[in-house]
Amino acid sequence: MMKPNKHAALLTAGLLTLGSAHAAGVKADDNSVFRPTGKGWGEIDDTPGAKERADLARLRSRGTGIYYHGGPLMTNAAGVNAYTIWYGNWSGNNATTILTDMLHHIGGSPYFNINTTYYDSASRRVVNAVTLMGTTNDAYSQGSSLSDSGVEAVVSRALSSGALPKDSNGVYFVLTSSDVNETSGFCTQYCGWHTNASLAGTDIKFAFIGNPDRCPSACEAQGTGPNGNAGADGMASVIAHELEEAATDPDLNAWYDNRGFENADKCAWTFGTTSTASNGSLYNMTLGTRQYLIQQNWINAGSGGCRVAY
Ligand SMILES: [Zn+2]
Repeated sequence: MMKPNKHAALLTAGLLTLGSAHAAGVKADDNSVFRPTGKGWGEIDDTPGAKERADLARLRSRGTGIYYHGGPLMTNAAGVNAYTIWYGNWSGNNATTILTDMLHHIGGSPYFNINTTYYDSASRRVVNAVTLMGTTNDAYSQGSSLSDSGVEAVVSRALSSGALPKDSNGVYFVLTSSDVNETSGFCTQYCGWHTNASLAGTDIKFAFIGNPDRCPSACEAQGTGPNGNAGADGMASVIAHELEEAATDPDLNAWYDNRGFENADKCAWTFGTTSTASNGSLYNMTLGTRQYLIQQNWINAGSGGCRVAY
């Protein structure tokens, strides 16, 4: 996800880049089929049968503006598990308190309930529950400049060291301090992303969430957040975005639209009705005792749309 001013331009840039990287020689036209990258834009899917799969997804659609492509969702009856990996140096930053609090209260909320409108081919739905199962710290094991594979290495290390359990029903959040860069496009093409990988024989879902204090104009919705920590307040919205995408499209082959946009991508940087917090900042929901400004999510019911609650 990326703030709107830059989103359109960067979306185009992303398509061109990915078009040449992953689909060399393929030009986008009306018959092009897109699949999600997990970074907020789609890429051309030129694998055999892509057009047929897309047609089938549209045929099965119920007019909600987002389509099911047959892959798994995170539908465990106990809900989705979350793990946090605090990467870099977070000492003296209360982001660890604010975002831990958020992950303790997002499950069961009217906001996360939006994800229960998503289901698999056996009609199993995402459950409105999120449990923060574990947390660990990583003091720059991969340095302060991470590539995508560097982020994966951070997760891999947390699992192999036993700091966190291997959990196919988990989403592992790599949360980087503001001195850490992600070189594939943090602050220029995205503010966070999610994907999956087979790590030690398990399908592990993980997400990168950078501290937007590194680039407030690109990745923070406002200069002062409701919790008085602009970086953490900005990350709260990005975490929510990647969490709901991981739940409904964990392997990038379940729910997305014909542009390759997953549920949260369709509502990125829209917040619905807002209220003013005591410090003058805007918020649109309360989780536990804290206020947050968290982007809307796409509801897969009725004729679809961006919502903060269901
Ligand atoms: Zn996204």
